[in-house]
Amino acid sequence: MIQLKNVSKFYYSKGMIASGFSRVNLNFDVGEFVVITGESGSGKSTLLNVISGLDSYEEGELYIEGKETSHYLASDFEEYRKKYIGNIFQHFNLVGSYTVYQNVALILRINGYKKKEIKEKVPAILKRVGMLRYAKTKVSKLSGGQKQRVSIARALAKETAIVVADEPTGNLDSESAEGIAQLLQEISKDKLVIVVTHNYDQFAPYATRKIKMHDGKVVEDEQMKPIKEEQAPELQVSAGSMSAASKLRLGLRNTFNIIPKFLLLLVVFLFVVVAVFSEYTTLKNSDEEASKMGYNDYFSNYSENRVLLKRNDGAPFTEQDYQTLQAAGNVGSLVKEDILLDYMISMEDDQFYYDAYPKNLNDFKAKLVAGRMPETNKEVILAGDQDDYYLQEDTLDQILNKTYKITLGQDTTVKVKIVGIAYEEIEGWWGTLYLQDAMLEKMVRESYGSNSKVTTTAGDTNLIYEAGGQYYRPIASDKVKAGEALASEELNGYYKNGKAAGQEIRMKAENLFYERALDLKIADTYNKKNFTAKTDLNDFEANDGAIFISTQDYRKLFTKDNYQVTVYVNDVKEMDAAIKAFQNMGYVPLTLKDTLVTMGSELISIVQVPMSVFLVVAVFFIAYFVIQLILRSRSSYFSILRMLGLAKKSIRRVLDVELAAVVNIAYGLFLAAVALVRQGVLHSEYLKTLTDYMGISDYVILYGVLLVMSYFISGKFARKLFKKTAMGSFREEE
Ligand code: ADP
Ligand code: MG
Repeated sequence: MIQLKNVSKFYYSKGMIASGFSRVNLNFDVGEFVVITGESGSGKSTLLNVISGLDSYEEGELYIEGKETSHYLASDFEEYRKKYIGNIFQHFNLVGSYTVYQNVALILRINGYKKKEIKEKVPAILKRVGMLRYAKTKVSKLSGGQKQRVSIARALAKETAIVVADEPTGNLDSESAEGIAQLLQEISKDKLVIVVTHNYDQFAPYATRKIKMHDGKVVEDEQMKPIKEEQAPELQVSAGSMSAASKLRLGLRNTFNIIPKFLLLLVVFLFVVVAVFSEYTTLKNSDEEASKMGYNDYFSNYSENRVLLKRNDGAPFTEQDYQTLQAAGNVGSLVKEDILLDYMISMEDDQFYYDAYPKNLNDFKAKLVAGRMPETNKEVILAGDQDDYYLQEDTLDQILNKTYKITLGQDTTVKVKIVGIAYEEIEGWWGTLYLQDAMLEKMVRESYGSNSKVTTTAGDTNLIYEAGGQYYRPIASDKVKAGEALASEELNGYYKNGKAAGQEIRMKAENLFYERALDLKIADTYNKKNFTAKTDLNDFEANDGAIFISTQDYRKLFTKDNYQVTVYVNDVKEMDAAIKAFQNMGYVPLTLKDTLVTMGSELISIVQVPMSVFLVVAVFFIAYFVIQLILRSRSSYFSILRMLGLAKKSIRRVLDVELAAVVNIAYGLFLAAVALVRQGVLHSEYLKTLTDYMGISDYVILYGVLLVMSYFISGKFARKLFKKTAMGSFREEE
């Protein structure tokens, strides 16, 4: 059934060609018990490997049942091995972590036998080799002779026509060897059994044929016993290939088979999960944060909970409005003088510098830790963080009852005296300054000017003043009459007759939420010489270009007093619903968060996305490197699967399942930890902040990323495993 005609095998290694055997002519038939012998290095193993399709040959022709094989691809030989060959090895090549039963069942499963068949067959075979009572024992606990019996059982299980054995007794004591030789002879009755040994004597009583090799050549081929004709059996063709369910089961079994390996893989995948997760969440968080971190010229309180409102009809808010809004759903607090939310002031002297937002003293709810309540307009309470450097109890005396200068706008300053100090939770580094009504009103007025853009139309030209600028800034002055303006001489150029005085001028103040225009008449102009006389101000350089108007008009232009209100919503996630509700109630809402000019998202996608991808790829390779080290100890296991005829693809699937199982467990553990942290059972600030912006879809995406990673790792490892021929990867083990 097997015929070799002038077959030669060469080895190529390190540029050298070595001969395994050359010009071998042999015929083998069922019923034979062939013993190939010869000294070490004579080519016995090589010959056996070629016969059993584990190794290729270079010259001549190997016929299998009369069919040529020289054109065979690796996959054809895989198929041949699967159908025809049962292997027995010197080193047994059993899966040590499997039981005797599992080892034998494995080959049947690989060959697509049904569960029921496996359950019937395995015990019968184990009985035949005398190992039934060890069925549930782990192979690693058996003696050498017992192991070889199991490996014979495995070779028998598939019911192939040919069983090959390379030095099956090489690792056994003579007593065990005797038993194995006898067992092999027994099974040869309906098979072709080819045994390689350097110790012919052990097999002498049983061999039907002796082949002796020397230096790669057959030097002796002798019939020792007659073969009984009637024993020629029917060729058993294997049942098929491994079912998907079997691959799944095998993969899952392998997951937990070797506990230390499982734990190591679990640790690696936990690392992968956490690394990928934190990369993902960092990206997501910084995107969210960036959308908060923008700026605009008109506001400085960018709380994401803040919504500005004005009435549809533009009329001032009434008590009724305030009450309706306070009572609306999701509304936390309402701020009437909300313009001050955008108006940070600084107090300073040589030893002290403090930023604060002004608030109405009526809203002061905290307890004083030092000093007293204010009595006059100039007296204030400063509230700030307990940990603040300036607000430590032993240094409070240094700021208490001292007077500080606050600069309002560009050149207006007021002096306040801190008479009380309180501690408050704060959102940033700043504190709160509690002021009486009159002082507050002054600040409100200033703040309007500072947070608005003012467009002055002189002739046909629009002259623009924006916060922080100097030219065309409106300044309230008692020296100007209502309806009039005092402008710089430089405006002359904008009028045809070259004279600004006596001309019409229009001033329009606006911010994102407000717009008001005034028509005035330029009553007079100033220049450097007459500046002080006309304005009562000393510093011409600092105020040059300003447009002076009456206090009355200034208020008209800027006062939004009760035209605008801020509400803070409790739940930002429900912002859209809140906005709808405000609109239905007859207000025009403006979500502060949406007014910000952000550079965040774009920047993030340009810099951070590639960065994150890079890091995830790095994590992939680190993980691959470690997993490959862990799995290296298992490459003999995978070679065994190959020897047993499991196709590359199937082995890959088994490995896929194994790694995916670990990934699932790792991710499950991780999600459990997240859930516990979210529920407050476990405490981890780190996890808590990371999961702030994570939704279900994010967890699904992450899961996908992890599965893909494990799939690639499995693929990479499998490719590495299959770079070598089955024999090649095996040699490495020995
Ligand atoms: P035996 O099994 O009889 O001891 P082998 O079949 O292992 O002999 O080896 C036959 C010849 O082929 C020897 O000269 C050996 O050095 C050579 N050989 C075996 N395997 C390899 C290999 N992988 N690469 C190169 N030469 C090899
Ligand atoms: Mg050998």
